[in-house]
Amino acid sequence: MFKVHSPLKWEEELAEVSAGDRNTSDLAIASASEAFEEWANLAPQERASFLYRLADLIDKEVPKIARVECTDMAMRYESLLNRVIPRGARNFRAYADLASEYKGRAWESNGTTNLIQRLPAGPTVIITPWNAPFMLATWKVAPALAAGNTVILKPAEWAPLSASILADLVDQAGFPPGVFNVVQGIGEEVGSFLTGNPKVRRISFTGSCETARKIGIEAAKNIVPFTAELGGKGALVVLQDADVEQAAITAAGQYDDSGQVCLAATRLIVADEISEHFLDCFHQNVDKHILGSSFEDATTITPLIHPDHLKRVEAFVDRAVVNGDEILRGGKRLDSQQLFYEPTLVKPASNKSEIVQNEVFGPVLTFQTFEKEEEAINLANSTEYGLSATLFTDSIEKAKTLGSALRAGTVWVNCFLVRDLSAPFGGLGISGLGREGGNYALDFHSDLKTLQIRNSDES
Ligand code: NAD
Repeated sequence: MFKVHSPLKWEEELAEVSAGDRNTSDLAIASASEAFEEWANLAPQERASFLYRLADLIDKEVPKIARVECTDMAMRYESLLNRVIPRGARNFRAYADLASEYKGRAWESNGTTNLIQRLPAGPTVIITPWNAPFMLATWKVAPALAAGNTVILKPAEWAPLSASILADLVDQAGFPPGVFNVVQGIGEEVGSFLTGNPKVRRISFTGSCETARKIGIEAAKNIVPFTAELGGKGALVVLQDADVEQAAITAAGQYDDSGQVCLAATRLIVADEISEHFLDCFHQNVDKHILGSSFEDATTITPLIHPDHLKRVEAFVDRAVVNGDEILRGGKRLDSQQLFYEPTLVKPASNKSEIVQNEVFGPVLTFQTFEKEEEAINLANSTEYGLSATLFTDSIEKAKTLGSALRAGTVWVNCFLVRDLSAPFGGLGISGLGREGGNYALDFHSDLKTLQIRNSDES
């Protein structure tokens, strides 16, 4: 068993959860292996009917799931209720639609017909992080199930509760036993029993680069395809011609959920001529933030997930100060009893500063200025990460040329966090391996096969 605490009331124990071990992992993988053939042999439309039923059940339970998730990991209730948890249902519907509509490509060449087929790959281990755990789990589970794979989900130990609700709903939706399994537990203890098991044929991971490196080694041992959605250090580039007020609102919004968002644009890179005006607008907007309980509608900044994470954020800023970086606002924890850290802005001594180069995953942004646009792109592209970037400009020409020059899996221009579920999603550099979204995820969860048939003579 391991104990779970709510970031909203850390001193109290919220729940005890059973900690998986080798035995639990082997059982879950055996159950997924046993269920695989029958599930894989269903027509995509038949599998889709289970996914639609599950989506309907999620829709009915949104308030309950949102309440549990809010208590477990302190994301804002309003956002969970209205956007994040409903997206879980949308994920299942989107993949049910896509998998049922799939028609393998067919074409003729060399006197033969080429037919491309998708075959379900096998039992699939899915490992998820603690930020937005329900939504992220459904985003990964939906394509795996729709493609005909069976699933073993291992949620993060800092926010494990909503995964168990998902298991209950899968059961209520009438999925055959063994198609979906949850193994709870501490990643370092149970992880390799899941990722190193030779019966597993796909691993889909979202979390830190450090853990991805370990999982990659396990995946390599059994030659198992593996996708990784990892950390980010997104740039927010504001050109001289941009709508400064709008850019500043977006920049101040990066403190939402206390910056515990992989896609957050944490490096503000602003044209020199407008930097003072930008900073004024930015501070005005940050001043409007309200720190408080995640259940209050007015709250915009929530507690951090865990005391260890708060210490990590604190240590980053403390090292920045020692490094000679300048704190422009914030820079300390707010309350010795609670898990809040002030919205913090740092002007780095150099672009090589750790605070610019490494992911903090907290309410800490950096501020840099540039004279030439080329310099802005170089700064934006100067970290090892490449998950997302954001550009503000009034010019459609620059939106295209500079947007293309930004090295990231997703680039937003004059907008932020807008997503189409059919578009590819993933990171460049150390931000990830492989792509999720639309058919990209269905291809990953399938063994793609070419069936090549000689055409009969046309005499
Ligand atoms: P983490 O890597 O510490 O943990 C993620 C998961 O891996 C947890 O379930 C954990 O138990 C498990 N795990 C830990 N060690 C393991 C091992 N040896 N083998 C197998 N599993 C193991 O990450 P975290 O702190 O939970 O999440 C934060 C990170 O996730 C940040 O870097 C953030 O940017 C990233 N993230 C990325 C995306 C994305 O889509 N790119 C989305 C959300 C979060």
